[in-house]
Amino acid sequence: MRRLFYKGLLADTIEITGSDAHHLMHVMRAKAGQKVTVVDDAGQVALMEMTAFREEAVTLTLKERLAANTESPLELVLAQCLLKADKMDYVVQKAVELGVTEIIPVKSHNCVVRYDAKKAAARQERWQKIAAEAAKQCGRTALTEVTPITDLSKLLADNGGTETTEIVFCYENEEEYTVKSCLQAAQGKRLVLLIGPEGGFTLEEAAQVQASGGKAVTLGPRILRAETAAVAAVTVAQYENGDLG
Ligand code: SAM
Repeated sequence: MRRLFYKGLLADTIEITGSDAHHLMHVMRAKAGQKVTVVDDAGQVALMEMTAFREEAVTLTLKERLAANTESPLELVLAQCLLKADKMDYVVQKAVELGVTEIIPVKSHNCVVRYDAKKAAARQERWQKIAAEAAKQCGRTALTEVTPITDLSKLLADNGGTETTEIVFCYENEEEYTVKSCLQAAQGKRLVLLIGPEGGFTLEEAAQVQASGGKAVTLGPRILRAETAAVAAVTVAQYENGDLG
């Protein structure tokens, strides 16, 4: 069953326009009477029937309100240093399936990819589309926002030094403090998982993150690829502090 995210609140009759309407009419070649699951801005979910079609717009009629909420109680942010194209796409898709609330692409010293403003905007748009498709596929009742690419200093300024947020700094050179201990100490907090690029973090960046309150943790004795580390960190965070346990 196709799932649509509706910008607005559910009502007895709503109208879908834009790319979703185009997809229904020209890709799915939907017919009147067919049904679709709709999630609105408040996370409410309903089964709706397609009742009318006009120029790039589809009218839906509410048939049944459905039990909502496939969202984790954990506010989980993935701050992922920029990776090569296909890897970043993969990390975005998997993070959404695993229930991440927000994805912040981060520019750090060792990032291989470099984007000018135009390319950065295009990348963000691409990742947001991947996130929306992943949310539909896995039945999310909220859309994961992919923010504009930000640099490490701004990420730390925006998220460091507060009682309600823990920056879980997944650092390849950390050997003592385990991610499990960190997560257990951060129960109830908003988590920002920081994962480095293929080339890892510089010593200066590691010092900067920790000076901003980030807790350096190890993800075990093996050096994981960045995309593996991202999936592993999100999974254990949802297991320990979210809804995977
Ligand atoms: N170039 C680095 C090196 O050879 O040591 C490896 C970087 S690793 C490929 C990419 C990112 O994954 C790291 O910056 C870190 O965020 C995370 N990561 C990988 N293995 C990890 C581990 N065992 N503990 C904590 N973080 C890890």
